[in-house]
Amino acid sequence: MTRTGFVSHEYYFWHHTGASAGPLPYGLAIQPDAHPESPATKRRLLGLLEVSGLLGQLQRVEPRLATEAELLWFHTPDYLARVEALSNGVGGDAGELTPIGTGSYHIAKLSAGGVLAAADAILSGSIRNAYALVRPPGHHAEADRGRGFCVFANNVVLVHYLKRVHGLKRVAIVDWDVHHGNSQEGAFLDDPTVLTISLHQDNYYPPMSGGIDVNGTGAGKGANINVPLPPGSGHGAYVDAWLRVVIPALERFGPEFIIVSSGFDGSAMDPLGRNMATSETYRQLATMTVDAAERLCGGRLLALHEGGYSTAYVPFCGLATLEALSGIKTSTDDPFMPIFGGMGGQDLQPHQKQLIDAAAALAAHVPTA
Ligand SMILES: [Zn+2]
Repeated sequence: MTRTGFVSHEYYFWHHTGASAGPLPYGLAIQPDAHPESPATKRRLLGLLEVSGLLGQLQRVEPRLATEAELLWFHTPDYLARVEALSNGVGGDAGELTPIGTGSYHIAKLSAGGVLAAADAILSGSIRNAYALVRPPGHHAEADRGRGFCVFANNVVLVHYLKRVHGLKRVAIVDWDVHHGNSQEGAFLDDPTVLTISLHQDNYYPPMSGGIDVNGTGAGKGANINVPLPPGSGHGAYVDAWLRVVIPALERFGPEFIIVSSGFDGSAMDPLGRNMATSETYRQLATMTVDAAERLCGGRLLALHEGGYSTAYVPFCGLATLEALSGIKTSTDDPFMPIFGGMGGQDLQPHQKQLIDAAAALAAHVPTA
């Protein structure tokens, strides 16, 4: 009997982001190229899960469409109407760097709804945890606009769902994507019942977002922790931060459900990120989080796919994460480990430790139940 559910859908790969120049729109000064947030990384992860034999050992969870009422728990009616209008036509930008293609409204609702379906399966007790390989991603989306390739804030909608529909009181979101998880920070900054922690590359995207000084406001003071890692942070920094910031904060907070915003753009091979995580890094972060979920909340953990743009490497980072969630080690090894695992700077560096020390001090002031 497997303990891990898995959500995917062919439509997730049909959300068409068109042409761009890196993350920016192309134009007469920058030649059009493939958009980095293309289906390729996610489709290749799905492919590796199949050839490794792991996919067949996971419990398939069928996604559903999120309803407009569910999306309106966070997003504005005007924003939904704008995305729908673009999606009914030839597409356009939903805000800032967020391409919408024909049909993307439907697919974005299926992305958010896939996450909700996975939560239902976990809370029904048929599985303990799950990975939602959803697309488009969500952790940059704001109430009234898309940002950074993200259409709807899947993790924010999920928190509302867990509270309003399932009656949970305390939910934690931990985010290892290389970019700041600004959706959840903004949505719950003054809420002491939602712990939000983001590890990300210092001051990258969104610009001027994710500083260590943003630590919650009002009643939510202490319930938001940012760990803005210096560029170049590798395995040692990620594991140290998870061990000394994320896990103690979770233990102090006492969540009933843990959400992981899982982007693999902190990897050593990512074209957009400048950190150096390996598949072993994600395996260790995931293992620590699964163990915390088992200790604190009956194993209830749901990982949502966010960024990650290396077509070659995202599949191995994802496989390692799914192996940690399921407790099943396949015989498929990461062929890149001999290159990335021993790179200079993978050990925790003094300037990284200094930052993590400061974040660890914040973990001691997370609001308790
Ligand atoms: Zn990202």
